[in-house]
Amino acid sequence: MGKYGELIVKQREFFLQGKTKDLSSRIESLKLLQSIIRTNEKELMNALKKDLNKSEFDTYLTEIGIVLEEIKFTLKHLRDWAKPRRVKSSLATLGSKSYIYPEPYGVALVISPWNYPFQLAIAPLAGAIAAGNCAVLKPSELTPNTSALLAKLISKHFPKEYIAVVEGGVEVSTALLNEKFDYIFFTGSVSVGKVVMQAAAKNLTPVTLELGGKSPCIVHEDANLKLAAKRIAWGKFTNAGQTCVAPDYLYVHNRVKKEFLREMKEAIHELYSENVFDSGQFTKIVSERHFERLISFLNNGEQYLGGKYDHTRLTIEPTILDKIHWGDEVMQEEIFGPILPVLEYESLPKVISEVQSRQKPLALYVFSESEQMQKKILTEVSFGGGCINDTVYHLSSPYLPFGGVGESGIGAYHGKGSFDVFTHEKSILKQTTMFDLPFRYPTMKNGLKFI
Ligand code: NAD
Repeated sequence: MGKYGELIVKQREFFLQGKTKDLSSRIESLKLLQSIIRTNEKELMNALKKDLNKSEFDTYLTEIGIVLEEIKFTLKHLRDWAKPRRVKSSLATLGSKSYIYPEPYGVALVISPWNYPFQLAIAPLAGAIAAGNCAVLKPSELTPNTSALLAKLISKHFPKEYIAVVEGGVEVSTALLNEKFDYIFFTGSVSVGKVVMQAAAKNLTPVTLELGGKSPCIVHEDANLKLAAKRIAWGKFTNAGQTCVAPDYLYVHNRVKKEFLREMKEAIHELYSENVFDSGQFTKIVSERHFERLISFLNNGEQYLGGKYDHTRLTIEPTILDKIHWGDEVMQEEIFGPILPVLEYESLPKVISEVQSRQKPLALYVFSESEQMQKKILTEVSFGGGCINDTVYHLSSPYLPFGGVGESGIGAYHGKGSFDVFTHEKSILKQTTMFDLPFRYPTMKNGLKFI
C-alpha cells in the first residue's frame, strides 16, 4: 500500500457508510464550511497577504466572496439537483418508466494551484461535498500559509476520513496520484494536467482538468475605448496577471491603437497608482523562478509602459510591451504575470486565423460595438469561455459553466456544474410486469402477451 493508501481506504469505508450521501448531512457540511470561512476571514486575508501580498479588497472579491456565493447558490438549489429525475421512455420500452439517479462517485481528489489558493481549492471541494463525496484536497506548496491554514481549519472541523487536506509539493501529489480515486479534479498547468490524466488513466478515473493557455483580447476599432481600457487593465493586472483567464495578449485594431494605449495607461494609473512599489497593494509574483521567467520578457518589443521591478519584493509593475510579433519569446507561452504584449491588426480574418492556428484558449475577450463582428468571432473561434466587452467576469456567474477546451482543459464547473462534475448520473429503466412485448424476443412474432 502506498503512503496515502490507508487514508483512501478509510475514506472509502466512510463513504460506504452512506452518511455523506445523506442530503441533510451534505447541507450541514456546506453550512459548516460557510461558517468556517466567515469566522476565519481575517486569518485567510493574512495568509493571502503573506503568500501573495494580496490586498484585502482583492482577497474578498476574488477568493472569499466568490466561494461564499458558490456555496450560497449550491445550498439554495441542492435539494433540486440531488433529486432523482423522471425522463421520457421511448416506444421500444413501452410500459416502462425512466429515471436518472444522481449519485456521488465516492472518494475524490482535488489538486489546486497557487494563484487563487483559497478559491481554487475550496470551490471544487464544495462541489465534491454537495454531490456527496469524500475528498482529499492537495493545495499548492507555493502558497504555504494558505495551505497550512486550510489544513488547520479543515482538520479541526471535519473528520479526515470525510475530508482531508494533504499538504506538499510534487512528491506528495505524485504519491496521491498513485492511489485509486473515484474522481480527480485538477487545476493547474497544461503540462501537469497531462501527468494527472496519465495517472488517472491507469485506473480509468474520470477527471476534470482546469488548465491554462494564452487568452487573446481583441479590441476592435469601434470599441468604447475608455471602458475597454478600464476593464482590460483590471482583468489583466489584478493578482499581478496571475489569473488563468487574464487577457494574455492584446490584439488592437491599428486605427485605434495609439488612442487605446493612452487610455490603458490612464486606466492602469487610476486602478493601481503610478507607483505600485509605494502603494504596497500590488500582488507579488509567487516565486523567484516565476519572477526570473517574467523579467526575461521585458526586453521583447518596445516598453510602452512600466518595466520596473523590485527583486527583493518580487514585484513587477504593470507593463505594456508594444511592437510585439508572434516570434517573440513572450508570445510562446502563457505569461501569467503583469506583462501585456500588444499586437496590432488591420484585418479581422487574419486575427481569427492566427488564433485558430494555435492551442484553443481558455478565454477570449472581444471589445466591439458591432454585433456582426462579435458573432463572427464567437462562431469561428473555439475557446473555453469569455466575455464581450468585459474580461474575467464570466467565471463569476454560477449560471455559466467554467472550463477550457482542447489544451485549456476538460470539463467545466461552477454553479450546478460543480455538483455535476462530482456526480455520476445513474440511468434506470423501471419495466412493467403487466405485459411483455413479444417482438423483442427472436422466437415470438406477434401479439401482446399479458402475464
Ligand atoms: P502547476 O500545474 O505547476 O501546479 C498545480 C498543482 O499541481 C499544485 O498543487 C502542484 O503541487 C501540483 N503539481 C505540480 N507538478 C506536479 C507533478 N509533476 N505531478 C503532480 N502534481 C504536480 O500549476 P500552478 O503553477 O500552481 O498554476 C498555474 C497554472 O494553472 C497556469 O497554467 C494557469 O493557467 C493554471 N490555472 C488554471 C485555472 C483554471 O481554472 N483553468 C485556474 C488557475 C490556474
